[in-house]
Amino acid sequence: MTKLTPGESPDYYGLLGLPVNAPQSEIKSAYKKMAQLSHPDTNPKKPRAEEEFKALTEAYRVLSDPELRRRYDLSLDQHSLKQEYHKPDSKILSFVDNFKRAVGPWPKRGGDLRYSLELDLIDVVQGGKFHIKVPRQAICSTCQGQDSSKDCPACSGSGLVQTVDQLLVSVPGGVEQGTRLKLAGQGDAGLNEGSSGDLYVEISIRSHPILTREGINLACQVPISFKSAALGCELPVATPEGIQTISLPAGSQAGDQLRISEKGLRRLDHQKRGDIIVTIQVETPQHLDQPAKELLSSFANASRGCYPREQEYLELLDSLKNKNGAS
Ligand SMILES: [Zn+2]
Repeated sequence: MTKLTPGESPDYYGLLGLPVNAPQSEIKSAYKKMAQLSHPDTNPKKPRAEEEFKALTEAYRVLSDPELRRRYDLSLDQHSLKQEYHKPDSKILSFVDNFKRAVGPWPKRGGDLRYSLELDLIDVVQGGKFHIKVPRQAICSTCQGQDSSKDCPACSGSGLVQTVDQLLVSVPGGVEQGTRLKLAGQGDAGLNEGSSGDLYVEISIRSHPILTREGINLACQVPISFKSAALGCELPVATPEGIQTISLPAGSQAGDQLRISEKGLRRLDHQKRGDIIVTIQVETPQHLDQPAKELLSSFANASRGCYPREQEYLELLDSLKNKNGAS
């Protein structure tokens, strides 16, 4: 990134933060300091760190060798450089300032952004692509983000302007509540060839009125009448693909479960989709009117002997009574 036109000698003294007349003994220590500042290992996110480090190493190679340095000095317009380095304020330039001047402004990475994406449970069952509108900072198109254009009317010299961009996010099937999807380089723009920040899309899932999530399965409780449980029925169940009817066998009990296979959530690490687990709730009738009560009593008489579990329970109670009586 050294700001030089082709044919010009590279500014080796500027790179090392040294005046042209620096004593030979200072060259090594200046190189060590600047090398530490610009080493690619300590600047992994700086896109041109390696290039800058190479330029620095080359400057050291030439200036540390007295013969190479002599030849290099001859190639310079020494008068102008010495003028520059003899200005009083040049003495207060720190090593970092000198380095910046030699290699151009530091690249500045753009900010990372977070976006909350609210989806319906049904949306995350199979996943898909979703449009989002992200407010973020972009390079000013008027001045191209140039640091020197302090009077740019569009960005007031910041080099960045606020925009709202529409992006497409791929949401994997079966994504969990609170998952953060990273969209690398989709955050705020960087300056001086700095990289853009990243965008983190955080998933929040709206609850479904009937279905709940249990891992990769969906679950629901379905209330049915006592009559439907006894005689069996066709039971309508909500699925991600619409309402599906399943057959409930006669004599079903409260708590019985039925499965609708592969209508649950898709997940990358699973070959198949999960299931929907339907749990039966038998609803006891309330507020019966007199005729209904009478019919139910007649029914109870007619269905005596059709309640094996109740029968078993009463027999167990009887056996306890007999034991107590014997002791
Ligand atoms: Zn601008």
